[in-house]
Amino acid sequence: MSTVTGRFAPTPSGRLHLGNILCAMIAWLSVRSRGGRFLLRIEDVDVPRCPRPAGEQILRDMEALGFDWDEAPLWQSERSHLYHEAMDSLAAAGLVYPCFCTRAKLHSMAAPNLGDTQYVYDRSCASLTAEDIAVLRQQRSPSLRLRVPDEEISFTDRVYGQYTENILRDCGDFVLQRSDGLYGYQLAVVVDDALSGVTEVVRGRDILSATPRQLVLQRDLGYPQPEYAHIPLLLDTDGRRLAKRDHDLDVDVLLSRHTKEEILGVLAASCGLLDRPEPVSLQALIPLFDWKKLGTSDMTLARSLRP
Ligand code: GLU
Repeated sequence: MSTVTGRFAPTPSGRLHLGNILCAMIAWLSVRSRGGRFLLRIEDVDVPRCPRPAGEQILRDMEALGFDWDEAPLWQSERSHLYHEAMDSLAAAGLVYPCFCTRAKLHSMAAPNLGDTQYVYDRSCASLTAEDIAVLRQQRSPSLRLRVPDEEISFTDRVYGQYTENILRDCGDFVLQRSDGLYGYQLAVVVDDALSGVTEVVRGRDILSATPRQLVLQRDLGYPQPEYAHIPLLLDTDGRRLAKRDHDLDVDVLLSRHTKEEILGVLAASCGLLDRPEPVSLQALIPLFDWKKLGTSDMTLARSLRP
C-alpha cells in the first residue's frame, strides 16, 4: 500500500500569513495522524516575484513553528527541466499551441462577472497555420496554451464535496508557459505533485477553482489524481479578510510576541480542533485531528494575535 503523502507548497512572493500556517498545520496533521509523509515545496516558479531569501525565510518560519518534513524541500526554480519534459509530451500529443495575443486583446475577452484580470480565452490563436506562426514569431514570443476538452470535469473535495467545471467554457485554453519562458503554476504544481508521489493536496479555498485545470493536466500526462481538501478562508477576529500586507501578523512578528504553542493553539481553536485557544504543540494536536471537525464556512481567528 502506498504511504499517504501530503505537502505544503507556499509561494514566496511574500511572508507566510496565518491563513498559510493554518493550511500547513492541517496538511501536516492530516498525514501525520495517519503515519504519512509530509513534504515541503517552495513554489518560486515565478522567479522574478519570488526571491530566494523569501523562500529561505519561509523554511525558517516553518521550522520555528515546529513543523518537520521528510525530504529536502523542493524549489520549483530548480526544476525547469522537468516542466520542459512535460511540455514536450503534451506538445507531442498535439495539445499545445502558441498564443500571440496581446494583453489588451486578452483584456477584451474579460467577461463582466470575472473581474479585472480574468478572461475566458476565445481560442483566437488555436487555428493559426504554420505560416502565420512563423510570421508572428518574428514580431513577438508567444505563450503556450493547453488545448482543453469541452467537458464537465468533476472531483470530490474532502471539505467542499463535489465540484464541477467545464474549463473550456469557464476559463478556456490556459497558459502552460508564459511568453517570457517561465512555466505557469498549473503545470509546475501538477508535475511536482506527481513526481513527489503526493496523494493528498491540502490548500486554501482560493485554489479550488483551479483544480479542474490540474485534473485535466494530470489526465493528459498520465499521472494519478491525488485527493483534494480545500480549506475555508481564515478571517480576522472582526470578520474581515486577513490582508497579506498586514505585517503585524508576519510569522517573525508573531513569534516575537507569542510562543509557537500559543499561535498554534489560536489556529487550532479557529478551525475547531480545540474548544478554546490554549497553547498546544503540533504533536499534541495529532490525536485530536479529525477532518469532521472542520466546517465549510469561513473561520474566524479565535483570539487576536496582534500587538
Ligand atoms: N503556491 C500556492 C500558494 O501559495 C499553493 C499551491 C498548492 O498548494 O497547490 O497559494
